[in-house]
Amino acid sequence: MFVQSNRLVDLLPYFHDKLSDNYDKREIDNLFAWLCYDRFKLNRNEIKSEGVRLSESELLDFRSVVKRLQANEPLQYVLGKTEFYNCEILVNQHVLIPRPETEELVDIILKSIDQRIRILDIGTGSGCIPIALKKAKQHCDLHGLDISHPALELAQKSALLNQVEVLFSQADILVDDLKDLPQFDLIISNPPYVLESDKSDMNKNVLDFEPHLALFVPNDDPLLFYKRIAVIALTKLTANGMLFFEIHERFGKETIRILSDLGYVSCEIIKDMQGKDRMVKAARKS
Ligand code: GLN
Repeated sequence: MFVQSNRLVDLLPYFHDKLSDNYDKREIDNLFAWLCYDRFKLNRNEIKSEGVRLSESELLDFRSVVKRLQANEPLQYVLGKTEFYNCEILVNQHVLIPRPETEELVDIILKSIDQRIRILDIGTGSGCIPIALKKAKQHCDLHGLDISHPALELAQKSALLNQVEVLFSQADILVDDLKDLPQFDLIISNPPYVLESDKSDMNKNVLDFEPHLALFVPNDDPLLFYKRIAVIALTKLTANGMLFFEIHERFGKETIRILSDLGYVSCEIIKDMQGKDRMVKAARKS
């Protein structure tokens, strides 16, 4: 099926025709609506209007988007951005697309902030966590760390886009001692936690496009980042400071054990909206 018409309404059947192997009907409708909103700021009713026509270059753009979607590239990477907790967050192949469960983490953290505090996000990626927190709590100081320079560059652009100030810096937490960093009242991390052995169950849109550096941990040491961050936080958290992790649903108990063995108190597993163990919170002893 080749689109001859330049009417926007005629592109929707073209999308269904080309993408039915990759997505179900509702997903295709959603992708189309999302793209039309991004390109033309047209809402779902307006895209049904018979009167909207596209220029030659707009038609070419739509066809090239279809090609990328056919290759299973997530639309967020095609658009170069996504929504996260009332913020527009820039994304590319160097950062994970922010997940809904991470919005839940931000939501829970926001409820625990009631004064001016210093917050560190370890493995910040797109910077979605500190940017959303800073936007909601302007009086707090936000710092984001990541191993990846290109991720940090993008995170910095997103902070500018959202008109918030976040201090981003580069570190490899597995080897760097972070002695130049000050202490924080709250440390957050959503580190890599997907097991190499889970790869076979994962979708191509994640496996082929999202950065493996941000996703995977070795099968024989799935909690390596949690152990390391828990040790770092012993010196980098103020007394009574809080630690928040996003976790693999299968490792809640082990994560709690690591934290309590290190002397953390008030350790707690928090479930996500799907009822899965997804977050852990703990406090440094006073
Ligand atoms: N929740 C992400 C996923 O399922 C993984 C994020 C992470 O490894 N920190 O793809």
